[in-house]
Amino acid sequence: MAAANFGKIQIGIYVEIKRSDGRIHEAMVTSLNEDNESVTVEWIENGDTKGKEIDLESIFSLNPDLAPDEDIEPSPETVPPPATSSKVNKVVKSQRAVLPSKNDPPARDARVVASARSRPTQLPEQSSSSQQNGTVSDISPVQAAKKEFGPPSRRKSNCVKEVEKLQEKREKRRLQQQELREKRAQDVDATNPNYEIMCMIRDFRGSLDYRPLTTADPIDEHRICVCVRKRPLNKKETLMKDLDVITIPSKDVVMVHEPKQKVDLTRYLENQTFRFDYAFDDTAPNEMVYRFTARPLVETIFERGMATCFAYGQTGSGKTHTMGGDFSGKNQDCSKGIYALAARDVFLMLKMPNYKKLELQVYATFFEIYSGKVFDLLNRKTKLRVLEDGKQQVQVVGLQEREVKCVEDVLKLIDVGNSCRTSGQTSANAHSSRSHAVFQIILRKKGKLHGKFSLIDLAGNERGADTSSADRQTRLEGAEINKSLLALKECIRALGRNKPHTPFRASKLTQVLRDSFIGENSRTCMIATISPGMASCENTLNTLRYANRMKELTFDHNVTGDIRSIIHHTSNQMDDLETQWGVGSSPQRDDLKLLCEQNEEEVSPQLFSFHEAVSQLVEMEERVVEDHRTIFQESIRWLEVEKVLLEMTEEVDYDVDSYATQLEAILDQKIDILTELRDKVKSFRAALQEEEQASKQINPKRPRAL
Ligand code: ADP
Ligand code: MG
Repeated sequence: MAAANFGKIQIGIYVEIKRSDGRIHEAMVTSLNEDNESVTVEWIENGDTKGKEIDLESIFSLNPDLAPDEDIEPSPETVPPPATSSKVNKVVKSQRAVLPSKNDPPARDARVVASARSRPTQLPEQSSSSQQNGTVSDISPVQAAKKEFGPPSRRKSNCVKEVEKLQEKREKRRLQQQELREKRAQDVDATNPNYEIMCMIRDFRGSLDYRPLTTADPIDEHRICVCVRKRPLNKKETLMKDLDVITIPSKDVVMVHEPKQKVDLTRYLENQTFRFDYAFDDTAPNEMVYRFTARPLVETIFERGMATCFAYGQTGSGKTHTMGGDFSGKNQDCSKGIYALAARDVFLMLKMPNYKKLELQVYATFFEIYSGKVFDLLNRKTKLRVLEDGKQQVQVVGLQEREVKCVEDVLKLIDVGNSCRTSGQTSANAHSSRSHAVFQIILRKKGKLHGKFSLIDLAGNERGADTSSADRQTRLEGAEINKSLLALKECIRALGRNKPHTPFRASKLTQVLRDSFIGENSRTCMIATISPGMASCENTLNTLRYANRMKELTFDHNVTGDIRSIIHHTSNQMDDLETQWGVGSSPQRDDLKLLCEQNEEEVSPQLFSFHEAVSQLVEMEERVVEDHRTIFQESIRWLEVEKVLLEMTEEVDYDVDSYATQLEAILDQKIDILTELRDKVKSFRAALQEEEQASKQINPKRPRAL
């Protein structure tokens, strides 16, 4: 039988192997299998020794320098005696320091650290010159073999000489390979300034055990479910050579590899770990996200409950993709969004015997909240008023509620709403980054509310930081977003704690959704969407922190501390306004105060002053416009009366006394009303100035994006 030709492969040396998931790393040869022309290799992963049998051909194709020489046919004697198994283990053990594992403390090679806030990661290049290829071992195969087989004996037999020759040759070839690899690495280096970071992240990932969420995973019952979804790097980011710094190794863990720089300019990774109810990686389709987030809430509305599902995150992170559907191509495929998937299940459930007998009707609404104002997306963006009755029931006056009979009806409505939302916009994101879109599926029984599912595509959270912009419109939008996202967080937290008072009046968004945050049978879900790029790292961390606080139930703020005591108003103009307008202690402002107290860390006293000024401004604006409208209508009546008066003067013998008395009365009335309006406009203008002053006081570091 012809012996298998193992070329330069020996037991105890290291070879490169390719894993079924495409990863390539080094492993040690532990046996040579003559009968099936293969070798067995072993390596350490997560503290476990793993092994694999690989055919010679695959080994040679990955390690061409080990392939048999055509000129020298290695004879059986040239192969050194096989190492004993104890020796093999020793090599494996020494490798433990290099190959990282979750259980092992970070050893000499600190590139891979699985814990949060790990210590700085070293560059591969710094620890060894033979590491340019970024593989895990920095002991050359020859060195490893030499170490294990001891120094050569003095009396060299022919056989030993032969082995040495071979080793020399191999070493030469290895160096050539090394040079080639270094050259290739430099090529990448030259074009990608983040090559070293890329290597560190790749090495880190290589050490992880991946167990992503699958459809086989159980769907847990949560009153509040908070999860994270990572989108893939997009074309633009890839072109800009941005790096993916997010890893989702398991069904509920998100890791952020934040590149940092030491004082001596060496770069390292700071790895931060977050845990949520679910974490979706960039391969998870909308159906998968839906399955674990919104789907469990469909039943809630059939059981007379209220459900909400929010997409929260930075602009461009995938909120609309998740809620509304895929926008790739010109048109949005809204049948794949959570709006439509939820609608589909509502109609399916409607047919179930239990619910069929309830004879429920399904309705839908679609509106947008922009800068604290509500616009109907199913009615040409009509501006709507939000009123609260004596029983604290909030109503959006005139909101169109359309009956829907099937999924197609819903898709049509979404289409109408979407085109209404983005009409006149240069890009879909230009406007949507500054407004919240609310899509609701409402169940009614003989007209009476049975259950409501609100699905909300929130404004981009980075916009909350726009409060110090030079442009007033941007500032006011930013203030409203900042306030509404803070209020949303507090309302959800309060829901989790069954807290009696929630500051829902602090923003239009939470005011409109108030009935969803109270009651035993309310459930909510937050999908925090994140961009994977290094360029988005700070926003991503802010998103993750916000989402994290949502379920943090231990924090209970001391409500007795009054934030006002630490705020120094620059003037008491505010108090004058309070007397004049009678808006000093409106429920809205009380809630705003409560909200700021609950979020002292994020809301500086200056920001609180600014928020107060903005709230004041918004209330004043509403009143000025309302009064103006009333006066405008009144003046039409005045005109008619004046016309009659003037006609009267054309009579030959008209009553001059009566004319003069009536004219005077009308003028008095006009002057009174107009003076009042003028004074209001004056103080409104003063409030505009106050807002501008307050915005300049805000510490530029605050607020960060929520
Ligand atoms: P946002 O609404 O948060 O501003 P979008 O949903 O508009 O962000 O997403 C921005 C871009 O990224 C869109 O082109 C979208 O198609 C794409 N995108 C978002 N999420 C994903 C995903 N999970 N898979 C593939 N592409 C995505
Ligand atoms: Mg969007």
